[in-house]
Amino acid sequence: MSGIVYLVGAGPGAPDLLTMRAARLLGPADIVFHDALVHPDTVALAARAEKIAVGKRCGRHSTAQQFINKRLVDAARKHAVVVRLKGGDPMLFGRAQEEIAALEAEGICCEVVPGITAALAAAAELKTSLTQRGTARSVTFATPRVGSGQHASDWANGLKASDAGIIYMGVGEAQAIAATLLAAGKSPGLPVAVVEDASLPTQCIRYTTLAALPRLVATGTTGPALILLGPQFAARTPVVAEADRDRCRVSSWAATG
Ligand code: SAH
Repeated sequence: MSGIVYLVGAGPGAPDLLTMRAARLLGPADIVFHDALVHPDTVALAARAEKIAVGKRCGRHSTAQQFINKRLVDAARKHAVVVRLKGGDPMLFGRAQEEIAALEAEGICCEVVPGITAALAAAAELKTSLTQRGTARSVTFATPRVGSGQHASDWANGLKASDAGIIYMGVGEAQAIAATLLAAGKSPGLPVAVVEDASLPTQCIRYTTLAALPRLVATGTTGPALILLGPQFAARTPVVAEADRDRCRVSSWAATG
């Protein structure tokens, strides 16, 4: 009898943005395979588990993924509770489907536990709704990233048609992103927010426009970052004083961590 593999969303970064279900599974886990982006405090919740870091940051290498798939299968044959802990939500740009397929092909039971995806943490930090009543009724999540050996897709299609767009794994390709969207007819003045390390104390929010995006990104992002595009992402002037904003922060982890 094989164990069960849980594909668990760890949330965007701050350890207290974890679901209760995820926390409940980590406690009894026998073995945890976690992404590089998952916070150490979250991994530490798996107190009795063997902990294995898998996947490079931005690791899209297919043999690496096949290796992870195999390790999950092997672990399920040895252990009762196997957790694959993935950044954000497993079902968004997380290669969960390949892991599910590999497990199901071996007759291994798996379950998925959703997590808060980076886009939703960024929207919260920007205090800017991704949808806006009357003006933004559609949102596209997209990535220009193409894995080795994969066909280039028309990643910009959805962004062209949407009121708001969120680009994952895009900062390294800011120049191409801006050129593609400008050629598709988006306005050079379209507001853009770049949010790095959303939900973490190292978070950095920067505002720009589509035409100026490559220049902004060239000045350096080091952590994982999202590019958010749409009229609602024009720079907001904070209405609450800095000291008050700190007082309002709900994250117990950020306050103590
Ligand atoms: N499954 C994840 C996404 C994995 S792809 C999720 O649902 O969030 C990795 C990309 O996610 C990064 O290149 C970056 O674009 C984005 N990302 C992940 N964590 C982030 C964070 N804390 N702040 C900003 N972007 C983040």
